[in-house]
Amino acid sequence: MSTLSRAQVSARCESFVAALTSPDLASIVDLVVWVEVDPSVDGPVAMAASHIGRAWLHLDGRHQVLEGLDPIASEDPMAFLPYDRECASPGPRTSRENSYPYAASRILSLFADPTRSPDVAVMHTPRHFFPEQGGHVGEHGSLDVIQSRAPLLLSGKGIATRGIVDAHARLVDVCPTLAVLAGVPDADLRDAGGDPLDGRVLTAYLDGEQLVKPKVIGILWDGAHCGDLLQLAESGELPGIARLLANGMALRGGAVAHFPSVTLTNHTSILTGLGPGRHGVLGNVFYDRGTGERVVPNNSAAWHRSAEWLRPAVRTVFEMVNSLVPQGDSPHAGSPRTACVNEAVDRGADYSTMAMIRDSGSSSGAAGLDDQLPDAHASVHLHDTAHLGDSYFSWGTQVDDLGLAQMRQLWESLELAPTLTWWASVVSDAGHHAGGPRSAIARDSLRDSDSRLMSFLEHLDGLGITDQVTFLLTADHGFEGSDPTVTGSWRPALERLDIPFRDEGPGFIYLLPDPDQT
Ligand SMILES: [Zn+2]
Repeated sequence: MSTLSRAQVSARCESFVAALTSPDLASIVDLVVWVEVDPSVDGPVAMAASHIGRAWLHLDGRHQVLEGLDPIASEDPMAFLPYDRECASPGPRTSRENSYPYAASRILSLFADPTRSPDVAVMHTPRHFFPEQGGHVGEHGSLDVIQSRAPLLLSGKGIATRGIVDAHARLVDVCPTLAVLAGVPDADLRDAGGDPLDGRVLTAYLDGEQLVKPKVIGILWDGAHCGDLLQLAESGELPGIARLLANGMALRGGAVAHFPSVTLTNHTSILTGLGPGRHGVLGNVFYDRGTGERVVPNNSAAWHRSAEWLRPAVRTVFEMVNSLVPQGDSPHAGSPRTACVNEAVDRGADYSTMAMIRDSGSSSGAAGLDDQLPDAHASVHLHDTAHLGDSYFSWGTQVDDLGLAQMRQLWESLELAPTLTWWASVVSDAGHHAGGPRSAIARDSLRDSDSRLMSFLEHLDGLGITDQVTFLLTADHGFEGSDPTVTGSWRPALERLDIPFRDEGPGFIYLLPDPDQT
């Protein structure tokens, strides 16, 4: 195999961009993004193009239009708010009607990995429906604001009581915020190489009290839609969320995910405070030129192996918190300092569901342990048994019931509870994929998750310790609903170029060397 010169890579990328921005693909291709070298500083610059034009995107939000119109008219993280605006016009038809927060920094991060970044990334339009390539009724993954908007609530001890605040944060802010609440000094919020994190502590929402023996619980509802979650809570349909809100605050603009707005990329950003270009988990599926391996980290057979994909710069929030107290010095020897329930990105956690899967010896990870999960039909948190006809929803119900059981075990008393507990749930992702935001199954998935949250809060009430706990609740991405009439694939247009490539996702385009002619 002959390797490509920089000039060849650039020319071939240009051919792909030209093919992908052809007007006949405009209903399914929202944007094409890539990185070029800015000759004036010899550094990378983010590029975006669509059928209407192309622009350089600068980190300070300035755009330099190179051709036609700027395909990214807005980067407003508060776009489509209040929530009525999103409901009134869901699924913007053109990128000019949409918003792409932190476009340059998120694109630059995706393209910063030395061997795993694609050459070009293609974004589906919000309405694109592509079940033949793994797409769903509800989808996420885009740079756009709705698919990138996750809820963010803080509540309980040490949190200012402010209700819903008209502001936003970023998911990379979660790690440093959890770490500081758990007692990690600001000076220790660094990656393994000593560099500052990409995220910042959300100090504006803390009440300034220095917590003694902090007990912090981070909760993730996978794919929970920010606007719908807050609206259902305000209308009395999510009493657990409403309870957290009454004792704290939520951001109306939520927290902006990294790009792509997919699960494993953002779980890793949430728990490391780093973007994908630094933590290495570039997508739910990506290709590593260094090893020649196609990596599928978001897979029930691979979650327990998450640490294998982490780049050397990574320090997880569990490792940061553990560094406060050496294991042997714990006042309650044997009880975990940190716990990680139903979460792939668990490196360093003293207690971890994935560690149990690793220890079980199951060669296919969690996928080989389905027979040990509780019966979904017996779940007391399920609002509609009809949803169990969706196999992902059914499995999510089982896994989330097991997650709640683990939480109750970990929280037998305030003394024995971990300093930092992370509790991930998955059924909300299943509900939103199955029906799209605001559908009956999506809303029931939030109600089911809320029922488990209420059950846990009542468990803490029974111990009389609820007011001693600090809570953070978030998700890893948002969701938009597709349109069943908007179908098709960009693949034939790329194949016609007769340039060797692979398309992972789909959407990550990697140029491949020419086969040897000799
Ligand atoms: Zn997810």
